[in-house]
Amino acid sequence: MLFTHHLSLLTPGPTPVPRSIQNAMNQPMIGHRSKDFENVAEAAFKALKPVFGSEQDVMILSSSGTSALEASMVNIVNPNDHIVVIVSGAFGKRYQQIAETYYQNVHVLDVEWGTAFKTDEVLSFIENLNVPISAVFTQFCETSTAVLHPVAELGRALKSHYESIYFVVDGVSCIGAVDVDMNRDGIDVLVSGSQKALMLPPGISFVAYNDRALERFNTVKTPSFYLNLAKHRNALAQHSTPFTPNISAFRGVLAFEELVKSEGLSHIIQRHNSIKKAVRQALTALDLELLVKDSDASPTVTAFVPKDKKEVDIIKKRLKEDFNITIAGGQGQLKGSILRVGHMGFISPFELLPFLVGLEIILTDHRKKPYIGVATKIFTEVIYHEL
Ligand SMILES: *Cc1c(COP(=O)(O)O)cnc(C)c1O
Repeated sequence: MLFTHHLSLLTPGPTPVPRSIQNAMNQPMIGHRSKDFENVAEAAFKALKPVFGSEQDVMILSSSGTSALEASMVNIVNPNDHIVVIVSGAFGKRYQQIAETYYQNVHVLDVEWGTAFKTDEVLSFIENLNVPISAVFTQFCETSTAVLHPVAELGRALKSHYESIYFVVDGVSCIGAVDVDMNRDGIDVLVSGSQKALMLPPGISFVAYNDRALERFNTVKTPSFYLNLAKHRNALAQHSTPFTPNISAFRGVLAFEELVKSEGLSHIIQRHNSIKKAVRQALTALDLELLVKDSDASPTVTAFVPKDKKEVDIIKKRLKEDFNITIAGGQGQLKGSILRVGHMGFISPFELLPFLVGLEIILTDHRKKPYIGVATKIFTEVIYHEL
């Protein structure tokens, strides 16, 4: 053991929770049918509008991100509709599985894992289907591959070619760290979860929607109960929720809003981009291949490819055992071949340094090559120029 004093959580969710959020969540309980809670709820629904780029108040579900994915589908798609699901990794697969649970006419556009979709390929896929498509689903950041998709480009293209299509985006692993404006970017529904870039503990999720999606929620025929968004939205208008909410987490949302206000959303976005740039150069300096090319890389998580499975295992194991640093492995077809380091939410660039020091030591041992100082030097130089 070299460092045992504090756990460094560098996974792409859950992410570290700031003290101010933790404290807000530790306040004494209040009843959910009270004026006290209505005040909290009213403010919490509003608090999230800037980070989602939403004109409407953002709904809060007291269930994890996947419930928001499911809600974004069953409240938009009618039973016999044809829909397109873009699958570029494990979370795309999840959208596909939800779709196939409810619907017969699911058209999957497979995108090579580790790459972003190309807007013209999505458009020609839709055209070649030759059936009316009611909705297109995609991840914004595909967490399993660390790719950020050009959703604004696709959203605008869909709006200009197929006005009736609903564009539904899973932003679980990047909302709070990217520039998004639902109106500008042609997004009808944008969902996220609490435990990634939004710095909250796991367990609540968010649904942002435009006027058009809201009308659709009220008319769609797919059965739903807990996840019926018309019900959630009616309650929201009363500063309430249809069922007992996670009251503590709602208070956490208010503390999150304070943090965003004090740093400024544009600085938060820039911070994530700077860290991405610096981490990518540092890993490259360690002769670690990056899974994703620069133009497709997410600002919230970075995937890298050690030389072989043995090196994957050694890096992950020694980071945890010797340095108390947790990173993530691969999922699905990438299990065992990549590692992913999360850098989203409550994270300063310098919190990546212990991770890089650990990598330098582990790789110096394992490869018998001198890596000490190599990654940390480049990382610090990039951050210095970005400041
Ligand atoms: C984490 C994640 C989810 C799933 O969220 P849960 O909170 O585990 O249900 C969905 N989509 C993406 C892109 C994610 O990163």
